[in-house]
Amino acid sequence: MSYSIAFPEDINKLAINHLLRNDAQEDLCFALWKPSSGSSRKTALIHELILPRENERLIHGNASFLPQYIERVIGKALETNSGIAFMHSHLGPGWQDMSYDDYRAEYSNAPAVFAATGLPFVGLTLGTDGAWSGRFWNKNHRGLFQRNWCQSVRVVGTSFSVTFMDKLLPIPKFKSHLKETVSPWKPEQQAKLSRLRVGIIGTGSVGSIVGEAVSRIGVKHIKLIDFDTVELRNLGRLLHATLRDVKNRTSKVSMLAKAYKKIATAEDFQVSEKEWSIVEVEGFQEALDCDVLLACVDRPWPRQVLNFIAYAHLIPVIDVGIAVNVNPEDRNLLGADWKAQIIGPGRQCLECSGQYNAGFVSTEREGHLEDPRYIQSLPKNHTLRQNENVFAFSLAAASLQVLQFLSLVISPLGISDIGQQNYHFVTGRMDILEDQHCKHNCLYPSVIALGDFAGFTVTGKHNKAELARKQRKISGFP
Ligand SMILES: [Zn+2]
Ligand SMILES: [Zn+2]
Repeated sequence: MSYSIAFPEDINKLAINHLLRNDAQEDLCFALWKPSSGSSRKTALIHELILPRENERLIHGNASFLPQYIERVIGKALETNSGIAFMHSHLGPGWQDMSYDDYRAEYSNAPAVFAATGLPFVGLTLGTDGAWSGRFWNKNHRGLFQRNWCQSVRVVGTSFSVTFMDKLLPIPKFKSHLKETVSPWKPEQQAKLSRLRVGIIGTGSVGSIVGEAVSRIGVKHIKLIDFDTVELRNLGRLLHATLRDVKNRTSKVSMLAKAYKKIATAEDFQVSEKEWSIVEVEGFQEALDCDVLLACVDRPWPRQVLNFIAYAHLIPVIDVGIAVNVNPEDRNLLGADWKAQIIGPGRQCLECSGQYNAGFVSTEREGHLEDPRYIQSLPKNHTLRQNENVFAFSLAAASLQVLQFLSLVISPLGISDIGQQNYHFVTGRMDILEDQHCKHNCLYPSVIALGDFAGFTVTGKHNKAELARKQRKISGFP
């Protein structure tokens, strides 16, 4: 199990304002958090700060809190069904270790906090440059509390900053024969990019290209999530797929994982293959282990699940969608558009930007989109009936998506939000939509950082995914 902490951008700003003082003294505060449980990572999602009142803490170069402060915080945590995090600042930059006093303050409070909330006490330290370090105080099998350091602390919003613990996640190198490779950005930006755990959701024509790009720019950990098998009809558009894969009924993720291992540029590159749909609980939990998700899916249900993850679990999702419009009478191409955008706190969600129709999610959950009679009953130019696409469109869409990902992570000249990009093939124009917000009655801003406790189940049984796995098993090939 690994550990991480994530903040929405606005709460991070409040914490920095309080903790970084002008008088060269340290300060402290408490916060409330909700769990986000991935298959191999637990994240504390900070959702509320509880700043100290006048008589609740002492500032004396460093800082200490009085019992009434933590008592008030425990009351708040019980009221809101939250975990408790303790934050304090140091006077130096970067990732921070703990002093003996820091250790004692957190270790001694861990049992009471765990007993009250049922969740581990979480500690964070803030450096003068805004870098966070964090740890969980977990109860071990002997009933003792042990410190588990977080691999990363992430701040998610219109920008995306991450502090890594170098000891747990060393900066990856390029493979030895590529060691002359120089990235067009600073080494510290490459160090951030290469350490992100990147999930690719959907590995069809767009996803296979996106995975290739991400593997080639030095990212070390990639997770591919898709239940599909390579089929004859995919061969024209699916990178690396061959007739042999069709005969062997290879899953798309295992076919691509094999190919990416050969072309990846990071030393000890690791790609994991997950034969699930993102709408299945197993696929959903795999996605929660990631720092960034590249959404290469076209159906409403997976898009809704990813929309939920971006807000409730604080994982930025970079979405791309292709819409091809062919006149059903004379087969004339009327339009081919692809739109790329990033969703998460402070940005417009996929539902409000019209990238999926929530009305069709239940239709899909009931299996109607797999029913040819239902599809036939839709108007001929309905988006759910359109399946025309070519490799060239996928390539262009994947390119926009990867560039959005790089803007978010590298943030050249401090620009990390380039807006929603909608490219029109027929006219060769691109529309940019900036500063878009969710509708006032949108549900998603209200679930920010609520994680496992958001109160919604977006996952379910996915017959098509189950069938695909079963058929691969019957065929006797892996
Ligand atoms: Zn300290
Ligand atoms: Zn919305």
